[in-house]
Amino acid sequence: MRFLILSDIHANITALDAALAAVQDRWERVLCLGDIVDYGPDPNEVTSRVKALAPIIIRGNHDKAVAGLSSLDDFNPVAKISARWTREQLRPENLDYIAQLPAGPLSADSLTLVHGAYHDEDEYVFVPGQAMGGLVDSPSTVTFFGHTHYQGGFSYRAGQIGVIQLKPEPGSNFAALRLAPDTRYLLNPGSIGQPRDGDPRAALAIADLDHDVIEFWRVPYDIGAVQQRMRAAGLPASLIDRIGLGR
Ligand code: ZN
Repeated sequence: MRFLILSDIHANITALDAALAAVQDRWERVLCLGDIVDYGPDPNEVTSRVKALAPIIIRGNHDKAVAGLSSLDDFNPVAKISARWTREQLRPENLDYIAQLPAGPLSADSLTLVHGAYHDEDEYVFVPGQAMGGLVDSPSTVTFFGHTHYQGGFSYRAGQIGVIQLKPEPGSNFAALRLAPDTRYLLNPGSIGQPRDGDPRAALAIADLDHDVIEFWRVPYDIGAVQQRMRAAGLPASLIDRIGLGR
């Protein structure tokens, strides 16, 4: 089975459509790690598109906040503005869809999905110490997480944690990770709609479990068109700038 793994789409339909076009016919089932809305200008378009993909999906902290299931107190002022704007924009059927998304961890086939950390959906996993819990306690050999908007992840073998940073070669769309025997993985496909790892291209992954290969993809898209819609919507300037920088 080949899974397409999407995370942190953040209401960016241009990035999502470019990503889907790039990997057309290369997957059989979609997994989504949450944060489908907030920050970007296209919450309804993205929610409709995600629904149509019929993914195995969990919620992210922004989905939760926009749906009114958690308070905005923990959000910085910019995130508060965008969460309120997103909530106002969402059509009732889309808000309902977002509100019913389950919390991770969710196990599907031989994979487990979490938004943040394995033990806390809202916690960030940036460094090996934060990855340890998920690497050891997840029921699956391969667990996917999002939330940080950094593509890559961690491996664990015989008590040793390794950091995985794969970058597609210039001119190539993806870098492949071959899964090693007796090794556990906590992997982040990166963010479709707001990458923060220095590469502004949309990030995603494909897990080909029959061949023990995970492909980490980067796909260019028309960032200027998205920034224009964000400006027209009156979204905060820092959010408009960061998608151009990938930070
Ligand atoms: Zn996010």
